[in-house]
Amino acid sequence: MTDIINILPDSVANQIAAGEVVDRPASAVKELLENAMDAGATEIQLVVKDAGRTLMQVIDNGCGMSETDARLCFERHATSKIRNADDLFALHTMGFRGEALASIAAVAQVELKTRPHDSQLGTQVTVEGSAVKDQQPCNCSAGTSIAVKNLFFNIPARRNFLKKESIELAHIEEIFKRVAIANYKVAFTFHHNGRLLYDLKGGNFAQRIAGIFGNTFKERLYPVEEQTEPVKIKGYVGKAEYVKRTRGDQYLFVNSRFIKHPGLSSAIEKAYRELIPEHTYPSYVIMMDVDPSRIDVNIHPTKTEVRFLDEQVIYAILRAATKKALGQFSLASELDFNPSTEIDFTPAAKGHIPETPHIEYNPHYNPFSATSHTPSSTFTPPKRDFSLPLADSTELAEPTPAKLTPVTPMSYLNRYIVTTLKSGIVVIDRQRAQERIIYEQMLRRRQNAQPDAQRLMFPVNCTFSAADSELMNELLTPLRELGFIIEPLGRNTFVVTATPQGVRDSDLQSILDQTISEYKSSMMERFNDRDKSVSLSLARQISSHASKEMKPEEMQHLIADLFSCQAPDTSPSGKKIMFILNEQDLAERLK
Ligand code: ADP
Ligand code: MG
Repeated sequence: MTDIINILPDSVANQIAAGEVVDRPASAVKELLENAMDAGATEIQLVVKDAGRTLMQVIDNGCGMSETDARLCFERHATSKIRNADDLFALHTMGFRGEALASIAAVAQVELKTRPHDSQLGTQVTVEGSAVKDQQPCNCSAGTSIAVKNLFFNIPARRNFLKKESIELAHIEEIFKRVAIANYKVAFTFHHNGRLLYDLKGGNFAQRIAGIFGNTFKERLYPVEEQTEPVKIKGYVGKAEYVKRTRGDQYLFVNSRFIKHPGLSSAIEKAYRELIPEHTYPSYVIMMDVDPSRIDVNIHPTKTEVRFLDEQVIYAILRAATKKALGQFSLASELDFNPSTEIDFTPAAKGHIPETPHIEYNPHYNPFSATSHTPSSTFTPPKRDFSLPLADSTELAEPTPAKLTPVTPMSYLNRYIVTTLKSGIVVIDRQRAQERIIYEQMLRRRQNAQPDAQRLMFPVNCTFSAADSELMNELLTPLRELGFIIEPLGRNTFVVTATPQGVRDSDLQSILDQTISEYKSSMMERFNDRDKSVSLSLARQISSHASKEMKPEEMQHLIADLFSCQAPDTSPSGKKIMFILNEQDLAERLK
C-alpha cells in the first residue's frame, strides 16, 4: 500500500486554526485588543470600517516589537508569554498560545507597523494569507499598529457568511466594551466608518462606567463593594426598576478578564428575587479579584468560561454583596448560614426600609387609543372557542358580538383573571393580555399613520452611549409612527417633545434604553424586523408597568378589549394568553 498521510503545510494548518480563533470580525478585534493590553499599552485606538469587513485596526503605545519579532509574531506558536510549561500556571496575560496573529494572518491581509520605545526606527511587515509579502524599516510612533484588511478575502464562503453590518458591529462593540470596562485605566477610542463612537479617557472605574453607559448611570446603579479573603468584589448593580427583558448589560470580570459564569450570574439574580418581575434581568458590572492559583487553569484561553476552587463561597459572598447593595440585607446575617444551603429567610438590616420598585399605572388609561377609555358593554369573541387564532393569522372569521357575561371577573394572585364565558370558565394571564391589547392598538395607529402624540409641557432630554445613539437614530422613524417625537441634539443626546398617551416623562429614559437594548438583541438573534421589534418592546414595557390591584370593572374592560383583538389567545411574543375549561372538561376532572 502506498503512504497516504501528508503533513499539512502551515498555511493550511493556520487556516484551520483560524476557523476557531477568528469566527467573525469581533473575535479578531478581541485578539488585537488583548495583545495591546498585554503589551502594556496605556492608549489604544480601535478603527473599524464596514463592521470589520474592510478594516480592523488597533493602534497601541505598548512595548512594540523588534525587527525579528515583527516577523515571528505571525508564526504559529509564536508567543513571548510562555517559555515552559510551568509558566502556564502563573499567567497574567490575556493570550499565551501564540495562535491569534498566525490565524488572523491566514485569513486576511495584515499590515503591521511596530517600534520599541528604545529604537529610532520601526519595522513594517505585510502578510497576506500567511505569506510575508514585504518587510522593511519604517518611521512610526513607538508601539504597535496592526491593520487587518479584507477579512476572509481568500475564503469567499466565509466572507459571504458575515452577517448584516449592524449585527457584526454590535458584536464588535460588545467586545470593545468588555475590554474597556476591565481596563479602565487605559484610554480607548473607537471609530467606525470615520465616526467616533467612544472616546474614553483613562481614569477610575466609575468614570469608565459613565463613559460606556452614559452619565445617568449614577441614578440607575448602586455600587457594590466587598473585600474578603477568597474574593474582592467591586462594581455596580442596576436598581430594581431598571431591569431589562434581555440579559444585555451583564458584565462579570475576574482579574480583569470578562467571563461568563451562569452560576455566579444566578447568585446576583437571586439577590433580586422578589424585587423584580419574572423573566426580567438586572444589569450589572462586577469585577472580582481572585487569587489566580484558585482558578482552574485548564480552561481554554479564548473562551470566557472559568472554574473556581471556592465557587460556593464566592457564590454566597456575591449574592450577599448584591443584596446589601440593593439595601436589603446585612452581609453578616447572611454569612452566618452555610453557603451551600438555600437561604429563604434573612432578617432585614436594622432601621432599613427596603426600596421596592415604584410603579404607577392607571388601568383605565389606554395609551394608544384616541378616545379615552369608556367601558364597553359588548365584546366580540372569535367564533371557534379561541382555539384558532394565532398571532398574524389573517383568516379570522368576523367575530360575532355577544353580551358581556354579567359575572364579575375575579383576580387570582394579581396575575390571572378568572371569569366565565358562554363556552366555559376562562383563565387569562393579565399581563400577556395587556401586551396583546397594546400591541394591536399600536399596529392600528401605525396603519392609520396618525399616532396620537401628546406634546410634553417640558421636553425631556435623554442621553445614550455613542453606539446606542447610532441605534436610536435608526429607531426615530418607527418611534415617530408610534407617537414619540424625538430629535437628535448632538453629542448623544436626544430631546423628546411628544410621547404616546400614558407614557410617563420619568420613565422615558428607561423605556428608550430598554427599546434600544431589545432592538439590539433582536438584531443579534434572528429577528430582523425593526418596526415589529420596537412595537413588541414597547407593548411589553407598558404592560409590565401595570399596577398590582385591578378593580372588577377594570378587569371587565380588559376582557372586552382582549376579545376585540385579532389574536386574543396569543401574546405578541407568542405566549398563550388564556385557556378555557368547558363543561366537559369540568365533568372529566370531577369524575
Ligand atoms: P499570544 O498573545 O497568545 O502570545 P499572538 O498571536 O496574539 O499570541 O501574538 C504573538 C506575539 O506577538 C505575542 O506573544 C507578542 O509577543 C507579540 N505581539 C502581538 N501583538 C503585539 C502588540 N500589540 N504589541 C507588542 N507585541 C505584540
Ligand atoms: Mg494574543
